[in-house]
Amino acid sequence: MSRHHHRRRLALPVFFLLLLEVFLPSAAKNHHQSTDPPIDPIPITRFREYLRIITAHPTPDYTSAINYLLNLSSEIPSLQSEVLYFTPQKDKPLLLLTWAGSDPTLPSILLNSHLDSVPAEPHKWVHPPFSAHYAGDGKIFARGAQDDKCIGIQYLEAIKSLSQENQFRPLRNLHISFVPDEETGGFDGMAKFVESEEFKKLNVGFVLDEGQASPGDEYRVFYADRSPWHIVIKAVGIPGHGSRMYDNCAMENLMKSIEVINKFRDAEFDKVKAGLAMNSEVISANPVFLNAGTPSPTGFVMNMQPSEAEAGFDVRLPPTADPDSLRRRIAEEWAPAWRNMTFKITEKGPLRDYLGRPLLTHTNDSNPWWSVFKDAVIAASGKLAKPEILASTTDARFMRQLGIPTLGFSPMKNTPILLHDHNEFLKDSVFLEGIKVYKSIIRSLTSFAGSP
Ligand SMILES: [Zn+2]
Repeated sequence: MSRHHHRRRLALPVFFLLLLEVFLPSAAKNHHQSTDPPIDPIPITRFREYLRIITAHPTPDYTSAINYLLNLSSEIPSLQSEVLYFTPQKDKPLLLLTWAGSDPTLPSILLNSHLDSVPAEPHKWVHPPFSAHYAGDGKIFARGAQDDKCIGIQYLEAIKSLSQENQFRPLRNLHISFVPDEETGGFDGMAKFVESEEFKKLNVGFVLDEGQASPGDEYRVFYADRSPWHIVIKAVGIPGHGSRMYDNCAMENLMKSIEVINKFRDAEFDKVKAGLAMNSEVISANPVFLNAGTPSPTGFVMNMQPSEAEAGFDVRLPPTADPDSLRRRIAEEWAPAWRNMTFKITEKGPLRDYLGRPLLTHTNDSNPWWSVFKDAVIAASGKLAKPEILASTTDARFMRQLGIPTLGFSPMKNTPILLHDHNEFLKDSVFLEGIKVYKSIIRSLTSFAGSP
């Protein structure tokens, strides 16, 4: 056998290896060497297809996303679909899917996710943010990979898999909503949906909405959001020459207030630093703008003390905070009238539900849904971290306002928190494991025969 001939015999397998190199997602190859289970390419493909539909603000392509999801749901015969519109222009569709239970008189289960995402700056990403690049280590890079297109596809894949099990049929109705505009406040999306006749008819008893990634081995779960207050304090005073020292000028009054607010901020932050509270369990008060001075062509007039000065603060209240006591503190200490100060509070969300109760979902035995949810995660070999308050705000607040128990949960463990960040990604194996977790959760929640 000549050496030349030997090389030709090797050429064919080498050619196939090259083909594999081109066509197989690299994660699938890696799994040949590792002990991980093989990657199921179909849910991954769907996840990537959904990620490639650009639903980022300011011009989210809702139509393509809805069409894509309608097509996916049509492959699951047990699902009925409906597209709802709550704006006169009909430009913000909401997709509602339903898997009918055997006893539709029982309160139903709602699984929610949002269609939209925040924008991305492509030049700051290692892979284009709407390409859903599938990297060699199994990471899928895309805007929306964590927040929150993952859960939308996981819901559907879990339902599809459950509906193929002939012996399983939900007892309660299961609804899945894909809502627009969460990232811009939800006002034309979930806020209008929960007020609609269509929503009332669903008779929702329990909701799962988005959560956040967990860098550790435990899944995170959220029972409340913090509520934002935008606070602007304003000082007025006698204007005067830059050289004069006198009491009660606007800048002096404003700076005294800033010191007082900063002391409050430090005291809250100290509780976090001492390990007594999590970041989201305290009131945060962060300065976001200062506005003062008399403009000149080159900047500001330097020999004049201005007659007005104001500062803005982003304040976040956990549901456990007492809003009346904070309002009093603002009026008496942060912007007291006796120091020539006024203030404006813009409350960006509710702190209490329609019965005046703090806007939170109980995560103890008083809430039977909590036990069903927790046991279902454990049954899928998942571990749950201590329930948390979310530092920011989601659509979950609209359901909690109606008194409907709502948990924030996105099954992403061993994953860095990258929502709204550059290079947002989710690993294929984490995404697929999430489908198994949802299968267990959906089976348990829809089979729950207890009283609520
Ligand atoms: Zn989100």
